[in-house]
Amino acid sequence: MQPIGVFGGTFDPIHCGHLRTAFELWQELRLAEVRFLPTGSPPHRAQLYASPERRLQMVRAAVADQPSFVVDDREVRRSGVSYSVDTLTELRREYPQASLCLLLGMDAFLGLPNWHRWRELLTLAHIVVAHRPGWRAPTTGPLGEVMVDHGTGTIRVLHERPSGCVYVHAVTQLEISSTELRSLIIAGRDPRYLVPDEVRQIILETRCYAAQQEPDGR
Ligand code: ATP
Repeated sequence: MQPIGVFGGTFDPIHCGHLRTAFELWQELRLAEVRFLPTGSPPHRAQLYASPERRLQMVRAAVADQPSFVVDDREVRRSGVSYSVDTLTELRREYPQASLCLLLGMDAFLGLPNWHRWRELLTLAHIVVAHRPGWRAPTTGPLGEVMVDHGTGTIRVLHERPSGCVYVHAVTQLEISSTELRSLIIAGRDPRYLVPDEVRQIILETRCYAAQQEPDGR
């Protein structure tokens, strides 16, 4: 049973930190595919910058040359707030037997207790946490308990069971964030090498992050 990776995010914009993390998890965990799910209206964030369609366009462009990366636009199509628990419930219905792995950066994992019906997530999927620079796995509080009750040190169980485990995996640390990227672009600097060329092209052509951006990004 090769697990399906489920990688949600605002992807505002998608960057090489997202892509390298997804690629390493796909390779090292032997995932069948990584499914990128750009959020529609995220519950945790007051503001999004690029439109949902533009973020989707950038995700599609970013993963086009990697066949094991799949784009799932259901949250963008859904009206109203997107909750991960609803998306995973749908995916579980579509893949009743499969192992599903929700892929999260450590920062996202630490915010999990604020998510809608978060305790149900582990009944629907495994949670795979990618180490990000500067963040540590929790040892206390509700997530510390989750680590004790559901933590696993082996990839094998992700293949043997459909859901229910938390697995932490170190990935190459690329300290790139969408927030910093947007600031850099607004300051008129070029995002080259922080995002795939195809994404850079969309950002420059559509000026989706800066009204006064120079075409060459300088
Ligand atoms: P922002 O700066 O706007 O918060 P972000 O760069 O964290 O954005 P998101 O779209 O919010 O991007 O993140 C989607 C997922 O990717 C989250 O689980 C997050 O932890 C993870 N992630 C984001 N950046 C990286 C990175 N550089 N390395 C590893 N994981 C990352």
